[in-house]
Amino acid sequence: MGERTLLNISLSQPTGNFWVDTGLVVLNELFQQETLNLNEALKTVVFKLQTDRGGWIYPANNFINTQAKPLTFPSKLKRTKGKCDVCTTEDRYIEAKMWMYPFIVDPSKFGTFYPGTKRGLRLCARCTLAGLAGYLGWLWKAHGKDTLHFFVFYSPDLRELQKFHRVVLGPLKLEGGKAPTAFSGPYLYETTLGLLLELFSHVEKSDLLSEEGRNLLSQIFGEDREKPPTHLHLYVISGKPGRAFNMHELREFSRLHDLYRLYKKWKEALVEFARTLENDEWNPHSTLAGIFSQFQIRRDQQYDTLWRDRISRSVLQFQDPFPFIEGFLFEARAKEKRPGPLNFGTMEVFKYYAKEVLNMDEQLLKTLAGFGHHLGRFAQDKSEMGLLYALRNAKNADEFFKVLNDIQFRLELDIPEVFLAVQPGEKIQGSPWKRVKTLLSIFAMNAYLWAQQGAKKKEEVNA
Ligand SMILES: [Zn+2]
Repeated sequence: MGERTLLNISLSQPTGNFWVDTGLVVLNELFQQETLNLNEALKTVVFKLQTDRGGWIYPANNFINTQAKPLTFPSKLKRTKGKCDVCTTEDRYIEAKMWMYPFIVDPSKFGTFYPGTKRGLRLCARCTLAGLAGYLGWLWKAHGKDTLHFFVFYSPDLRELQKFHRVVLGPLKLEGGKAPTAFSGPYLYETTLGLLLELFSHVEKSDLLSEEGRNLLSQIFGEDREKPPTHLHLYVISGKPGRAFNMHELREFSRLHDLYRLYKKWKEALVEFARTLENDEWNPHSTLAGIFSQFQIRRDQQYDTLWRDRISRSVLQFQDPFPFIEGFLFEARAKEKRPGPLNFGTMEVFKYYAKEVLNMDEQLLKTLAGFGHHLGRFAQDKSEMGLLYALRNAKNADEFFKVLNDIQFRLELDIPEVFLAVQPGEKIQGSPWKRVKTLLSIFAMNAYLWAQQGAKKKEEVNA
């Protein structure tokens, strides 16, 4: 039946669906022509997806299991025509199975990709073939036996997406489509941030990308002010591998150029900070990656990275990461056997974030950093760690002011007046009191840990 079926895979007709369109890009790259004979093209795609022993390559084998027979799909095309649920073309179709469209596992959760009716998903031959080719266009990252992350970059401009695959993703991806990451873990957001930091690091210079690849990246991330940035989206899917993949989360990230802008500014802030310390040896990219990577705790033989995931999520969504940094410092770091302070430059990075993303007043930030530093050192010197926990645990503005009062009394420290000038809505210099409290306890605990580390070293030298 399928012998004569010809398909048009032109990139000028995107379906708008990230998975099927990725497949169209892969098909165009593979065949370099717009009209395909279905059976011949299918053979080529299946060949690329199969192992020498006839199984399906990892990790596509989570979706195309041993019972699935993609090769026979042309004979299963219905004789009658119907509307394809993905591209809306009226044509012969098949009822989709998981291998044709991996990310419709639970229609109740991911309804936007699924027709509103209870019947199965209908796919035309073109979308089915593209659905299969999609497995050659993703990046993935496994963490242990229980987690698989998938990454699909998407732009509705499929010609540009094809170029992105050819000159950027192709050279960057590791063996078998493995994603390169600055760090990764079992959670979706931390691994996504790890991937993006790695991608960003290739814009300015790269030993893997060509000039063309770097130019495309800088255009995508809006470095070229003449051209509007490309709308590149990133879809990330996380779940548990097995005979059938169990999807836990699917997230879309669409503000990649805003994130890149932050990345650049962070590196500038770190270079500036290194200059004040007269340290020219620093690599701002690896320093930055280390700053985000540090939010983990060693437990038994493993690392618990939940704090890192929460902090990454806040940053990827341009929300407030400080409650999680505070939680990490007080609940995880300070309780370690030999707790150390945050990495050099951490607070430079987050001060910039507070100013630019959360619109905090710059002078207020300086006051918080300065006073927090004294507070932490004095608290360490007088063994008053409890005061820092009281500060951390303040539940309302009144409690916050009470703790400040205790600090003034017990540590004989003058409280900066700006903290006490409360504005309507319980704001301090335009910021919610709670954010001010949180930042103060972060600066203070970090200084405490610095001072403690210094004191321990002295003890060891004298011992
Ligand atoms: Zn279709």
